[in-house]
Amino acid sequence: MLNFTFVRSLGRSKRARATIGNGADYGWACQERSRGPNPRSSRSRTMSNESADGRPQPAVAGRTGKHRVVIIGSGFGGLFGAKHLKHGDVEVTLISKTSTHLFQPLLYQVATGILSTGEIAPATRLVLRKQKNAQVLLGEVTDIDLVNKTVTSELLNLETVTPYDSLIVATGAQQSYFGNDRFATFAPGMKTIDDALELRARILGAFEAAELVTTQEARDRLLTFVVVGAGPTGVELAGQIAELADRTLEGTFHNIDPRDARVILVEGAGAVLGPMGPKLGGKAQRRLEKMGVEIQLNALVTDVDAQGVTVKDADGTIRRIEASTKVWSAGVQASPLGKMLAERSDGTEVDRAGRVVVEPDLTIKGHPNVFVVGDLMSVPGVPGQAQGAIQGATYAAKAIKAGLKGQAPQERKPFKYFNKGSMATVSRFSAVCQIGKLEFGGFIAWLAWLALHLYYLVGYRSRIVTVIQWFVTFLGRTRGQMAATEQWVLARLALELVNASGQEADELTGALGAPPADNGRAPGARTSDMRAG
Ligand SMILES: Cc1cc2nc3c(=O)[nH]c(=O)nc-3n(C[C@H](O)[C@H](O)[C@H](O)COP(=O)(O)OP(=O)(O)OC[C@H]3O[C@@H](n4cnc5c(N)ncnc54)[C@H](O)[C@@H]3O)c2cc1C
Repeated sequence: MLNFTFVRSLGRSKRARATIGNGADYGWACQERSRGPNPRSSRSRTMSNESADGRPQPAVAGRTGKHRVVIIGSGFGGLFGAKHLKHGDVEVTLISKTSTHLFQPLLYQVATGILSTGEIAPATRLVLRKQKNAQVLLGEVTDIDLVNKTVTSELLNLETVTPYDSLIVATGAQQSYFGNDRFATFAPGMKTIDDALELRARILGAFEAAELVTTQEARDRLLTFVVVGAGPTGVELAGQIAELADRTLEGTFHNIDPRDARVILVEGAGAVLGPMGPKLGGKAQRRLEKMGVEIQLNALVTDVDAQGVTVKDADGTIRRIEASTKVWSAGVQASPLGKMLAERSDGTEVDRAGRVVVEPDLTIKGHPNVFVVGDLMSVPGVPGQAQGAIQGATYAAKAIKAGLKGQAPQERKPFKYFNKGSMATVSRFSAVCQIGKLEFGGFIAWLAWLALHLYYLVGYRSRIVTVIQWFVTFLGRTRGQMAATEQWVLARLALELVNASGQEADELTGALGAPPADNGRAPGARTSDMRAG
């Protein structure tokens, strides 16, 4: 997770200031918090208002005077919402804390060296270049004012206030550690590009370290990979780590045989791919076991540390798995903006995962112009999948356009989800697929999986490069993206350490490979040293 406190402090540095001051135009209602409006930005001078205390106030007009649609998020919901408004008589402002449209279903292939980030995360700005009614703003949304109809976002030390007439909130979900957030220190999730690159570096780094260590115990720990959660992401990751070890790395080390690697898939429930049913779950399980993946069902991970995980079995037995590399793919928690919206709209609630319980037209109570779509919405029968996000965003865009033609909110037909099915790939040449009542697995399912994912990848360039990388990986033994650096492993922890103190700081320091501070300084004192450096 991007640490904005730290980033803001970077923003005060000379270099960051110069970059911002050198003509960057961050939008028409935007100003630097500490220094007032950007003097070189004619837009910010003419379009933004300021209160007596210098705080930015909503601009009174948009870029064109047309109906202003603000979309938060550049995932499936945000991007498809913007695209469906292309021919609408509106001006669209898409605000996202990430500069790319991330195709999450293929993140695991970045983590295991098959694809590069470029293939699955094109810059949103480039994707929307030809959409003249759309503007893209980079920034983390920190506030939504439903009364004054504004969205506040932050980037470095810039605060931007963007007014809207209609709002689509598509900020998705993040990894959930079920209240044990400290597990994240040792077991990254699989939600962002940072996660995937960190994991790639951890996996490849573990093999490198195993080549160097001198004891069998250390070697075994380094060559043990634990994936927590046997949903589609866990299954795909486990399968690919096994293939990476058995096919790609085989024969490339002298002191170790990568095929000795243990890949363990730990699942708290009683089945692999539970929501896909016993037939497909069983197929996936058998395929993984054939590849040597150890599957441990009804096994709850109760603790995670640098050396491994603690597991509680169904009969109450507590045991340890010593493993250097752990991945968490066991749960999701909706973006905190969901809770904020619910608290500010009278009567709107969130479910246990923090998703907004929306009205039948995907809006929140009392605000028919505020739509919540994608993984952030809670609609019975709609899974947290790309299809739900795309269909929800399309519905919201159509409702906005119909409203401009005179349709009243109460005339909207309720959102209806069309389930196009689910798929998960297990290994090269093997996937499972469920379309309505039809369930099948194996090679045909794998081809269907490839075709579908190619279809939804954004941009011809990404598709062509992806097909080439798939050929290289699945027909040959090599992988095109095997770069990994120490920084990818350490950067997240180092950023977290900047703001940590006490036991948390000690744990982070340990995970970074240094002994906890023992010189009388609080561990957090490193923070200032690091910033100064
Ligand atoms: C590893 C993985 C594999 C998956 N595989 C599949 C699959 O095979 N098939 C399938 O259908 N689905 C799959 N999914 C689920 C699918 O990716 C999601 O359902 C879909 O991405 C949801 O879209 P969304 O737009 O709601 O959210 P997201 O795609 O998560 O996008 C959220 C956006 O909001 C932005 N954002 C968040 N908070 C803020 C903020 N405060 N301010 C500004 N911007 C913000 C983020 O930067 C991001 O751009 C997978 C998910 C993961 C993580």
